[in-house]
Amino acid sequence: MPATPAWPPKSLPRLFVRQPLSAGGRIELDARQANYLGNVLRLKEGAELLVFDGSTGEWLARISDAAKKRMALRVERQTREPETIPDVWLAFAPVKRTRIDWLVEKATELGAARLVPIITHRTVAERVKLERLEAIAIEAAEQCGRTRLPDIVEPLPLRLFLQQLDAKRTLYFADEAGSEPAAHTFRSGPALILVGPEGGFTDEERSAIRAAPTGVAISLGPRILRAETAALASLAAYMAVAGDWR
Ligand code: SAM
Repeated sequence: MPATPAWPPKSLPRLFVRQPLSAGGRIELDARQANYLGNVLRLKEGAELLVFDGSTGEWLARISDAAKKRMALRVERQTREPETIPDVWLAFAPVKRTRIDWLVEKATELGAARLVPIITHRTVAERVKLERLEAIAIEAAEQCGRTRLPDIVEPLPLRLFLQQLDAKRTLYFADEAGSEPAAHTFRSGPALILVGPEGGFTDEERSAIRAAPTGVAISLGPRILRAETAALASLAAYMAVAGDWR
């Protein structure tokens, strides 16, 4: 048991707020958040919680006003600096709704900085509701202790995605057709992991990806993984190699 118990206690509720945070600041919560703190957690004026705004780190706040459907917080002091984690983006072909929700939740927990839905020839779900995915990412970040949210961008056709590749970011292409083991291939530095649709990439798509100047093919082992499993396995392996788990 450490001499001084950890401060702030891990059990304090955590909320993402859209207003920028600073010491002494006043934050008006939206009706959903006010209901959650007031009616679900039954917190009263004076109660403490943690808040983050996605860019300035984490802050200790206290409920200053609580009315039926309205609640305000007073921001007291910063408790954590903004997170500094390996810079990795995940590009994936949208799968069915429940599985994409699960993928977004887990990729947020694992520390992805950006999520890029990619439309490929065999992509099943063309439309993704970004608002719903953002709400899932917010809840996952609140629960796992992140201080920033992954950016979730509009779906991109694979052709455009390949045209817009950033020369400073290594493209790790998860290719079940065989390549070097991911754990031996990952290098720290800005990364972009690309995982294919359930039906896989077409040969034409595969050659276009393999021709990308920043591209490196990676293998995730001898078994054919489901798309969302491959996405999370590669993200976890990258984070382990890049030092996020130290
Ligand atoms: N094309 C395959 C097929 O024959 O149906 C399966 C595609 S797999 C379900 C979906 C995606 O996960 C693949 O496009 C690839 O990006 C990734 N993947 C699955 N298993 C993999 C492995 N063992 N190594 C590398 N990538 C893998």
